[in-house]
Amino acid sequence: MGMYVGKKTEICSICNQEKSRGIHLYTTFICEECEHEMVHTETNDPRYSFFINQLKTAIKSKMYR
Ligand SMILES: [Zn+2]
Repeated sequence: MGMYVGKKTEICSICNQEKSRGIHLYTTFICEECEHEMVHTETNDPRYSFFINQLKTAIKSKMYR
């Protein structure tokens, strides 16, 4: 983490992978791939609630840090 000079990477809150491209939602980073998947996942898809849960957990853990 933080080893790559000139390339800013962050840990995605959904897949926990280090990515350089993505969006920030509140204080949480979501990589491009996960953001794309979330957008294209139906709200009744079980994966959708997984995404939401991951986000909630990520936001909470940052709040109490
Ligand atoms: Zn991701």
